[in-house]
Amino acid sequence: MCLFKDLEGRYKPSVRRARGLVFFRIVIAACLLTAGLGCGPPPRPVEPAAPVKETTDLCFALPSLFDHRPVGPPNRRPADELRLSAPNADESERLAQAAAARAGELGAVVLSHDVRRFAGRTELILRFGPAGGPERFRLVIAWPVEPIRGPRLAIIIDDCGARDPYATGILDLPVTPSVLPYRAYSREVTEAARTAEREVMLHLPCEPLGREDPGPGALYACMDDAELRRLVREALTDVGPVDGVNNHMGSRLTADRNAISAVLGELGERGLYFVDSVTHHTSVAGSVAAELGLAHARRDIFIDNDPARRAVVRELRRAVELAAGRDGPVVVIGHDRDATLEAVREVIAYARESGVALVGISECLE
Ligand SMILES: [Zn+2]
Repeated sequence: MCLFKDLEGRYKPSVRRARGLVFFRIVIAACLLTAGLGCGPPPRPVEPAAPVKETTDLCFALPSLFDHRPVGPPNRRPADELRLSAPNADESERLAQAAAARAGELGAVVLSHDVRRFAGRTELILRFGPAGGPERFRLVIAWPVEPIRGPRLAIIIDDCGARDPYATGILDLPVTPSVLPYRAYSREVTEAARTAEREVMLHLPCEPLGREDPGPGALYACMDDAELRRLVREALTDVGPVDGVNNHMGSRLTADRNAISAVLGELGERGLYFVDSVTHHTSVAGSVAAELGLAHARRDIFIDNDPARRAVVRELRRAVELAAGRDGPVVVIGHDRDATLEAVREVIAYARESGVALVGISECLE
């Protein structure tokens, strides 16, 4: 069974797309081979796979999906997305092949595809539309994978977007970049992270208690729900598709139950997780996320309050030791600075020797 060969034959894709398909296949293989390793993956308990919808169901669903309005912003809108569960990668490929064939009969093509690993599952994402776009709907097929258990540490690197990710070497490290919107390299970081199979987050500027300026597009507690939600959507559109969100500053906003509820409600509709940076102990973001049923995590340690490399190494070693002795994940946050990235590089071996897996945030969600 070969979706890729079938797609190539059916749609005569360009050389570039054909290369993309080969890459895609390699990515799937890599995901399967490396399940349980590295930075990409996730632990929530594996949800029992829902019964696979029959191909005939899919064929009924696709024509109605084609009648939907075009997908506007790059981030998901639930109404334009069909989600299926499959028991394994082979079955997901069979469903994808059937969907591609049916879409072809309806005059559509696969515009792009993506494979993403999350806590306890992998998702194959196919985007459909007329040749040349725009995207009309997407099909997401999820299958369960074994989550990482045991001692694990996730390292978020905040404030990305101001520096070229290829120049800093951030993507060579087992970290999750969190990207500020409206910066010179915001979109580049997000795209580079996805290409490198890293999780990537939006670093959402939020109102602090002090006078510091959170930057363009910031959310303030005095705004009404519609305004807060609009700013979230615009920031997501600016950085491009991400896996989750954490707050940049936000000591005032995350303490405001109404404001944070609006923000998290918007994230929930997009299937994004939230990491509370805990910039102040009065934050209610975690408890509101739990009430809303949103996948979430909270920061344990800021590793570079003292930005000197040696100090960051010390904090990272402390985090590794905390993880080694904890029956659960540890989440730390540093910033996109050379000294912090060098410190991360320096501690990788220590984490390995200590039996602590360096994981993506998806492995740390409640
Ligand atoms: Zn920040």
